[in-house]
Amino acid sequence: MRSKRRTREPHQRYWGIDKNLIHLVSILVLGIAILIGLRYMNNSKLPATPKAPPPRQPTKLSKKLWEVFGSPRGKGLKATQNILAGQMILLEKPIIKLPSEPDRSAQAQLLFEKLSSLSDADRAEYFSLWNTVTGFPEDISQEQRLRGLALNIFESNAIRGSDRSAAVYKNAARINHSCRPNAVYHYRSDLGVLTIQAVEDIPTGEEILAPYFDASVRTREDRQKYLREAYSFDCQCEICSGNEAKVDESDRRRARLSNLTSVLVSWSDEKAEPEDAIAAIEEALRLLQEENYHASVGVWMANAATISAAHQDQDGVKHWARRAALQYIIETGRDSPEVAAMATILKEPNRTMSWGQRDARKLNIAEPMSPI
Ligand SMILES: [Zn+2]
Repeated sequence: MRSKRRTREPHQRYWGIDKNLIHLVSILVLGIAILIGLRYMNNSKLPATPKAPPPRQPTKLSKKLWEVFGSPRGKGLKATQNILAGQMILLEKPIIKLPSEPDRSAQAQLLFEKLSSLSDADRAEYFSLWNTVTGFPEDISQEQRLRGLALNIFESNAIRGSDRSAAVYKNAARINHSCRPNAVYHYRSDLGVLTIQAVEDIPTGEEILAPYFDASVRTREDRQKYLREAYSFDCQCEICSGNEAKVDESDRRRARLSNLTSVLVSWSDEKAEPEDAIAAIEEALRLLQEENYHASVGVWMANAATISAAHQDQDGVKHWARRAALQYIIETGRDSPEVAAMATILKEPNRTMSWGQRDARKLNIAEPMSPI
């Protein structure tokens, strides 16, 4: 788990959705909920979309909660005091931010321009980040070597944002991956900053670990293959290095979680009943709990709110929006757009973008919840 990522996660799909459209790691929290919403944005019969609240500054970090530490496997971040679930660990502006377009040469040119405008200190910091360069051909110039190194560092450390950007952050780049993370990345597109949120209590001295992708829906073999190909390391996190019986148990749950995401896609394609989709979400939440996986949980609840709204189940929307808001407070921060969005539809379920897109049904949520 302490190995550094070596190459940027390649173009891939998530729940059948082009992953370039959403953030590499943290923006998965909105995932399909937003995309389902977007499907219906052009439908003139829909009520007006709630007006987005103005951006709010995240709570200022009162003090530094972490330090960089070195290990034979590379640098990492560890807690210098007890951190509570839901606490923001880090808030950081990028030192380099580029459009995450597939055109590599255009991206490289932009990168070199941006690097030349950095301060000497930031440039030195940039070139101290992890890279996978093992050598250059002898017949290339010094400048070509430097450019090759710069691009490799970018591809090894950049984190994609939901605004189709990819950016390198000095401190967040030091965070190592785990398939059972205690923290998550969250890109605030409204502010252009990256935050790291604790998703469980992290005692002093413990390493801060965030997933480089949604590890909850992949078996160990699948994760290892992916991490080797995309980041060139063998994950040795507590799940990957557990005994075979535990790994089998974990694999069974994660394979099932992957299947359950398919049920939501089927519902989205009008090939599954909403009752089945809600049951899939409830099962997924149980499995995530059993797996002790606390990242990317809110998106399941937000999806349930979206499905309930499509079927005009007002109580269902309230139930799920409340749960999603509470979970998003942990995963994305109390002042995040995700929490604001859930709070809005909790108050006015019929303003959910998917409202009334399907036949009206009651989806087994009997108890309306009080507003938060
Ligand atoms: Zn692992």
